[in-house]
Amino acid sequence: MTAFNTLPLKPELLASVETLGYRQMTPIQAQSLPAMLEGRDVIAQAQTGSGKTAAFGLSLLQTLSVETIRLQVLVLCPTRELADQVSKAIRKLAANIPNVKLLTLCGGMPLGPQLASLTHDPHIVVGTPGRVQEHLKRGSLHGGGIKVLVLDEADRMLDMGFSEAIDDIVGRIAKHHQTLLFSATYPAAIREVSARVQREPVEITVEAPAQAKAAIEQQFVEVDPARKLDALAQLLSGERGQHALVFCNMRRDVDAVAEELDRRGFSALALHGDMEQRDRDEVLVQFANRSCAVLVATDVAARGLDITALPLVISYDVAHDPDTHTHRIGRTGRAGQTGLAITLSTPRELPKTENIEQALGQPLPWRALNVSAPRGKTLNLAPMKTLVIDAGRQDKLRPGDILGALTGDAGLDANDVGKIDVFATRAYVAISRPLANKALERLRAGKVKGRNFRIRTLR
Ligand code: AMP
Repeated sequence: MTAFNTLPLKPELLASVETLGYRQMTPIQAQSLPAMLEGRDVIAQAQTGSGKTAAFGLSLLQTLSVETIRLQVLVLCPTRELADQVSKAIRKLAANIPNVKLLTLCGGMPLGPQLASLTHDPHIVVGTPGRVQEHLKRGSLHGGGIKVLVLDEADRMLDMGFSEAIDDIVGRIAKHHQTLLFSATYPAAIREVSARVQREPVEITVEAPAQAKAAIEQQFVEVDPARKLDALAQLLSGERGQHALVFCNMRRDVDAVAEELDRRGFSALALHGDMEQRDRDEVLVQFANRSCAVLVATDVAARGLDITALPLVISYDVAHDPDTHTHRIGRTGRAGQTGLAITLSTPRELPKTENIEQALGQPLPWRALNVSAPRGKTLNLAPMKTLVIDAGRQDKLRPGDILGALTGDAGLDANDVGKIDVFATRAYVAISRPLANKALERLRAGKVKGRNFRIRTLR
């Protein structure tokens, strides 16, 4: 039932599929292709390796009419590498259809050659949102004939601050088009984008293939209450401690633990319900953009966290009930990589671990931990540092303006610039930690969007 020839595909496409050696559809292809070929909008949760590129590639090539010389398909990707990969895959699928013109348009490349290659409309453009937006604005790209818009790795595009660019692009292309959205994760922000740009999308979720399935390793460690912090610091000092979430049962412990970790040289921050909204936002921004390595939180506060797939989650206290425990450990485990969930338990907390054991239906994996005395200050800093600009959407500041100022006048490489978050009156940008001070000086000396805004580093 999952052979490609059960689909209404052009013979040229079936021939390409055969040449490529695809014998059967992958689950994501089997589920999404029928709807896509009917012209429906589709939102699909799909990882790299699932065969998603061939899924939307086949569908968009089926829709394409080569005789019509105008832009009909726009594929937006978060990075140049992905755009190159997607372009290659589509070219292979189109190998038997003569005269398909595909162009890759990405930021970080000189504009001149791109403008030259746009003297005739391509059929298909694969590119990054900022650059595509620029071409549409300049009129070097015409969106009026677009039939299919693909948002590939949409979650990563949002992470990189492309949300506004995407909205702007959608406003500049033909009103009636099919939108295919692919994303590895489904945070609330993705649902919002889907609600804005899609019409009654067919939703598709496919179980990750067995080897890519998130696997969680649990460990339970019995500790003396007096050594709990030493044990925590020791467990966090490995590589996994570069992005870890620590749960405490009580608010006051959250602050105390975060402060103590900070004192011991970790980039650690506290998150709990007593904090002002702005402080919460700043903590969440810093944890997501990798400026904070260890986030210490209560269960309630962590609900606002849009991040799963952390390499390490530690329960500093045993959760009061098995459900809460399950929620905590569900924050770890990345596709293809094992996540580690460690629970610390003092002798007094053992009855709570028994409840978890009962709910789990199997013996808990206890391990011994030799807690060594702290050896002075161990530096365990996060890879990035956050700069705050006292300007935001109200000042018409966009992620691209900040990236432009950093890579232009400030002379940074785009690879040293991390996530950019623009709020109403403030913007945050993550910079590679060793370069943060240089970036700050240069930004202060120069201008952002032709203006001098107040800029400082967080913490
Ligand atoms: P993607 O998830 O799009 O990055 O694709 C992952 C890999 O799977 C690529 O190397 C594709 O060539 C390959 N692939 C896609 N569809 C199929 C299929 N139906 N059968 C076998 N391999 C496939």
